Amino acid sequence: MFDLTEEQLMVRNMCREFAEKELREQAVEIDRTHRFPLETTRKLGELGIMGVVYDDKYGGAGMDYISYAIAVEEISRVCASSGVIVSAHNSLCVSPINYFGTEEQKQKYLPKLCKGEHIGAFGLTEPNAGSDSGGTKTTAVADGKGFILNGSKNFITNGEYADVHVTLAVTDKSGQKNKNTSFFIIEKGDPGFSVGKVEDKLGICASSTTEMIYEDCKIPEGRMLGKPGEGFKIAMHTLDGGRVGIAAQALGIAQAALEEAAKYANMREQFGAPIGRLQAIQWMIADMATEIEASRLLVYQAASILDKNGANRRPASKYAAMAKLYAAECAHRCAHKCIQIHGGYGYVKDYIAERLYRDARITEIYEGTSEVQRLVIALNVLSEFES
Ligand SMILES: Cc1cc2nc3c(=O)[nH]c(=O)nc-3n(C[C@H](O)[C@H](O)[C@H](O)COP(=O)(O)OP(=O)(O)OC[C@H]3O[C@@H](n4cnc5c(N)ncnc54)[C@H](O)[C@@H]3O)c2cc1C
Repeated sequence: MFDLTEEQLMVRNMCREFAEKELREQAVEIDRTHRFPLETTRKLGELGIMGVVYDDKYGGAGMDYISYAIAVEEISRVCASSGVIVSAHNSLCVSPINYFGTEEQKQKYLPKLCKGEHIGAFGLTEPNAGSDSGGTKTTAVADGKGFILNGSKNFITNGEYADVHVTLAVTDKSGQKNKNTSFFIIEKGDPGFSVGKVEDKLGICASSTTEMIYEDCKIPEGRMLGKPGEGFKIAMHTLDGGRVGIAAQALGIAQAALEEAAKYANMREQFGAPIGRLQAIQWMIADMATEIEASRLLVYQAASILDKNGANRRPASKYAAMAKLYAAECAHRCAHKCIQIHGGYGYVKDYIAERLYRDARITEIYEGTSEVQRLVIALNVLSEFES
């Protein structure tokens, strides 16, 4: 186990206490009603959790990525919807503005985002550009005063509530794939921008997942992030941090599944004794606990690599992909076993086992499916052995 620093322990205690006091009861209700937890998200902002790793001169909490992973883990252990709201905001919106924004852009957008007064989102996916973001069709054309965007994004986390989001668009139609796109900052009130379909999902039901529509959406000069043609590079850099966030979300869900399963196994009696005395149940608990520790090590390792490498995060891709792949599949297996240990009670809504199962499933899909993570890992490993 990593020896956590005093600051990391403080974040863990603070987020655990917040989650128990403010999120636990609400988590059941917002899962059923699909209500976005705006109030508690704002409170997380007041605690520094909407800008964990960013400089305090921009309103951030100035902590490290391990603290960030711990925060997402603890929040997701109680409410996975809140976990993804925090992760998408921090990793996918604040991060690219922080790393690729001009000083002016940072001063304009980061303070409100880092304090949770504004909510952020990230628009990469399109109907025909999922795993392959090179298939992006949204365009941004310069008009002398700024850019005009046309197209749409789908499945965007925080979409309905985002005051600010970053989005990828083709800026050079004749350019080479993955070198022809750029990122732009979009504000809620920009003319021609609207939120479209709101998805009705299997899990993480209290998070918002929407379509973002640009119809002759006019944005002024000063909204491009980085240089023209850097869109793909910014997306990949951003996803390294994002994958650590989702890996931490998966870890929190898996931890919750273990805790629920162990408590139930100690309490439920069949054949005259607690089911926890049955070897069949013990082996499931043992596998869950062991895999969760392995996930935690991978997640904290990937986070520490983000800390050490700063802006040059080349090695981060492999380790972020490994952490996300393993933690997501671990969460799925743990949530599955949690239901199994609950028997029929795991299948009904009186217990949270069924919610954990529904919530775990998405971690294998968004910010790169498990197949895509395997691709990233394999390409990295193969390149290490090229002669
Ligand atoms: C709840 C939710 C929230 C989301 N939030 C966001 C967000 O905030 N921002 C955003 O931009 N996107 C978001 N997404 C989109 C998400 O990242 C994509 O759904 C995901 O990347 C997969 O893309 P796709 O759905 O188009 O599937 P596809 O790319 O069509 O994949 C379908 C299947 O083919 C496999 N596949 C595809 N290509 C390969 C390959 N090269 N090798 C092996 N297998 C492959 C996939 O693994 C998958 O099994 C979200 C999605 C959901 C459901």
